[in-house]
Order: sequence, then structure tokens, then C-alpha cells
Amino acid sequence: MKQLFKVFCALAIAVGLVGCIAAPIEMTTQTKQRLRAQPPIRFLLTFDDGPSASSFWNPTMTILDSLATNPVQPNLKAVFFVQTGAPRAGDSDIGREVMRREHADGQILGFHTATHWHTNHRSLSPKELEQSLTKGSADIAAITGAPPTLVRPPFWNYDKRVFAAYQKHGMHVLLTDLSANDGKIWGFNASPRRRANMLRQLSEVRERIALGELPTVDGVIPVVVTFHDLNRYTARHAREYLQILLDSAQATGVKTAQKPFYDDQTELQRAAMARTVRDSSQPVKLPGIWNWIWGADAN
Ligand SMILES: [Zn+2]
Repeated sequence: MKQLFKVFCALAIAVGLVGCIAAPIEMTTQTKQRLRAQPPIRFLLTFDDGPSASSFWNPTMTILDSLATNPVQPNLKAVFFVQTGAPRAGDSDIGREVMRREHADGQILGFHTATHWHTNHRSLSPKELEQSLTKGSADIAAITGAPPTLVRPPFWNYDKRVFAAYQKHGMHVLLTDLSANDGKIWGFNASPRRRANMLRQLSEVRERIALGELPTVDGVIPVVVTFHDLNRYTARHAREYLQILLDSAQATGVKTAQKPFYDDQTELQRAAMARTVRDSSQPVKLPGIWNWIWGADAN
């Protein structure tokens, strides 16, 4: 009984802590003034871990449908960081078919993994990493006609050696500003606090925008958002997520561009490149502690 009470207390504290952490940062008058001098933002959508190899209600296909048709803005373009060596993702007939559709829809294919599992690149030997990057590049080029120029390291984790290997393969590291924290953990894939989570993260990004830390590309500030397209919850709620992003921007006082999402592949590519990591000593900034608690394991 005492043990049970302890567990209950620990849970209560954890929930309380998370509640505090998830509260958005209050906007000061200074931030408000500084924001006025900044251009509007445009959300740059990215999806990790796909494509889904499922023959039943394929979540990646559902997301592609949602990007094409939704009440917010039609024909959206996103970056899909794919796993080309995973049998439950790109190393399957269905997975390859999905990647062909991604390309045909004008989506960008970036590299995530080419190993059987979602393996940390730092845990691969130099030879294994080289093989993985060569294979991933070739797999993506077989779909799109060109090797990928963008990479998202699994677990957001890389070091100097891994970064140099990416560079050698012409791959640029794209991290994220906002995370839906929808990476699958413990078989639980819903995100019950997704609105609070987005508000908190966007309020942090707003502070960086106010300080002029984010680059302007084509007249807007690209804000990178990460989802996981294998997540059926995400797929079912993809259209709703677009609205949540807009609502969160409004609630945190961040101006969105007339077109709040990318619908042009060339502009998307330019924006993504402008947000890539310049050198490996640049610190990796995870999208909030919430992500650390909730989703970092599954990125
Ligand atoms: Zn991942």
C-alpha cells in the first residue's frame, strides 16, 4: 500500500511538472515590439520514419491525401525523412510505392536511415555508416532521380565524425523547431496534450524570432515542424494538426504568412537548406524538455 502511495505521488509530481513545463512563455512588451520588425513565419512540415509499408489504411498515404486536400491550404509540400532499409518502411514494395507517390506529389525525400532498424548513426562503424549513406542515397535516387540533400539524424543524434560523413555525401542536417512529440513510445501513439505542447514550443520559437535568430527566406521565416508519418494518430489528425499550428501561432502572437505552409517545392528546398546546421560544433537544440520527456526516443 505504501509502495502504491509512493507511485501515486511520483505520478502526481510528474504530471504537475509536465503541466508547468508545458505552459507557454508570457510575451513581454519588448518581445512584442521586436516581433513587429520581423517578417511573418511559414511552417515547414517534415515527417520522420516513413514510409509506411502497411497495406491496411496506410498512414503515410493518408498524410499525403491530407497535404493535398485540407481546409487550410491545398497542395502542401513537406520533407519526408525516409527509412529505406527498414522492411516496415521503405524496404518494401508498398513503401517504395509510397515514396514514388511522395515524389510524384512534389514532396521532398530526405534521408533518415538505410539500416534494418532505426539505428543511431553514431553507433555504426565508419564502414557501416559509409555503407548506410551510400545505400540510402542510391535508394532515394532510384525514386527521385537525384540523391538526397537533406538528412535528419535518427534520435537527432550526431557527432563530428557522423556530420563529416553526411557532408561527404552532400547531405545537410535539418533539425526542428517544433515537434508534435508523436514518436511512438511504449505502443502509445496519441498526443493528448498536443495543443499545450505546440503553444509552449512556439512561444520559445517566438522568443528566438524576436531576437532575430532565425533566417528569412523568400520574405518569410521558415519554422520547422516534425511529425511521424508512421503514427496512425498523426495521420488521422493531420488536417487538424494544420489548424492547431495556425491556432498556436495566433495564440502566441506569431504572425503567419499569407500562405502559412509551403506549397512550392523549390521554395521549400531553399527554406530547408537555410535552416540546416552549418557546422558540427553547433549545439543540438531539442524542441523543448517536453520532447525530451515524451518523444526524443522515437525521433
Ligand atoms: Zn526517426
